[in-house]
Amino acid sequence: MQYISLLQIAPTLAKFFGITLITRARPVERILESAYSRNPIPPVVVLVVIDSLDCHFYSTCVTELEVLHEFVERDGLLFECETVSTHTTPAIASILTGLRHESHRIITSEDVGKSKINSILEILEDEGTPTAAIMEANGTKPLSGRISYVFAVDDREDIAEYDELIKTHTISVLQKHEVRLVFAHLRAIDRFSHRGWDLRVAAKLTNENMRAIAEAVSEQNGMLLICGDHEMHQKNKRRGKAPATVPLIVCCP
Ligand SMILES: [Zn+2]
Repeated sequence: MQYISLLQIAPTLAKFFGITLITRARPVERILESAYSRNPIPPVVVLVVIDSLDCHFYSTCVTELEVLHEFVERDGLLFECETVSTHTTPAIASILTGLRHESHRIITSEDVGKSKINSILEILEDEGTPTAAIMEANGTKPLSGRISYVFAVDDREDIAEYDELIKTHTISVLQKHEVRLVFAHLRAIDRFSHRGWDLRVAAKLTNENMRAIAEAVSEQNGMLLICGDHEMHQKNKRRGKAPATVPLIVCCP
């Protein structure tokens, strides 16, 4: 397993799509080689962030997250990524810009939309490459009218229903064949960890949603990137001081 940073996802996508992204983070050549070795070269890339999926949880839930483990075993790539934040909003901003929070300055949901830094979604769209985002309503605000397809899902107590909607919209936007990059954000694992609920239940929900999304990606010969955003915040639990890492799985399901 190769050790990279979450900051390297955006420059990798930028290079794949042939656009310029201003960041010091380097593209991951191994991912590009894998993408270019496909026939056809994937016409669409789907990036799914699974909130709170860290390396410890990923390797603990081999049965509950069997779909993800299968992708890696079949012919996928697995990377261990250094995280750049302990919170969702700045972490996702870093994943989509390739910049640390000191540069993108998106720390809270109030900052979303105020940053002058464009994400890879907006940059691609400006270059004439249609993109889509499926995420919580606050996160989509700055993207509305900026990118081709925006699906805002309102936050709610029933997080299974929330993730179900994210999955449904992700699958439906894959029917729009002009779309080249899709970003989606699943949150059940994070919610369960904050509430101290049975994480195996959340892992199984996530697993089934990823199975359905992967099927839709496969029908389009697309490439699927799945990563966590930060270390899990577990209720009543403190982990050691080892640096937190999250997995990045790259596959053509
Ligand atoms: Zn998060």
